[in-house]
Amino acid sequence: MGGTFDPIHIGHLVAADEARCQFRLDKVVFVPSARPPHKTGVRHSPAADRLQMVRIAIRGNPFLDVSDVELKREGLSYTIDTLRHLREVHGASVELFFITGADAILEILTWKDPDELLAESAFIAATRPGFPLASLRDALPEKTSKGADALDNVYSMEIPALAISSTDIRERAASGRPYRYMVPEGVWEYIEASGLYLKGEPRGDG
Ligand code: NAP
Repeated sequence: MGGTFDPIHIGHLVAADEARCQFRLDKVVFVPSARPPHKTGVRHSPAADRLQMVRIAIRGNPFLDVSDVELKREGLSYTIDTLRHLREVHGASVELFFITGADAILEILTWKDPDELLAESAFIAATRPGFPLASLRDALPEKTSKGADALDNVYSMEIPALAISSTDIRERAASGRPYRYMVPEGVWEYIEASGLYLKGEPRGDG
């Protein structure tokens, strides 16, 4: 499951759990991105904070895991590099599903090596309620480079809890409005103790 997770929130966890159940996944691995390729001008909170918040959020759930592979890699966080890494580690027979927000998947054709991406892994687009699914279909090629129907490998999953968003949580934390129950308790404590999103605090490492 890819994203910046700045911060991880209940919507991400509900989406991970739903995907695990719907697609009978053995495990969902959160992969915080270090430098998302499409957002080179955007600054994120330090990688160490985002990683720690994910660790806190998934604590106690044996079906959830976190990988720092993108945080350790130099340069931009291309999904294809992550999928190749996962293939190398887990072997050719493992079935991979890349889960992320539908807005990101809409732009998949502009990602690095889109043909290989669509051939290498299935994709699960987590949508907020009301998301126009037709736009997802329009954004995909008809065939992958291996000749398969691209749509056969891209799934969507409506997650009402994704009405919660990281942007809104950051704004709430910065302006003293409530967000406590939008994140796991430990993540709320972490944000409060660190002052991560307080206005005027230096933002992180992009
Ligand atoms: P982002 O800035 O964190 O999120 C964009 C939108 O999608 C936000 O509305 C976000 O909501 C939602 N979202 C993000 N991750 C989600 C998740 N796991 N489940 C549900 N909703 C999620 O992320 P991004 O930069 O668009 O990238 C998303 C993923 O796609 C990352 O893993 C990134 O590396 C990958 N990507 C790869 C390429 C490439 O390989 N060239 C290009 C673009 C993106 P919240 O803010 O509430 O999370």
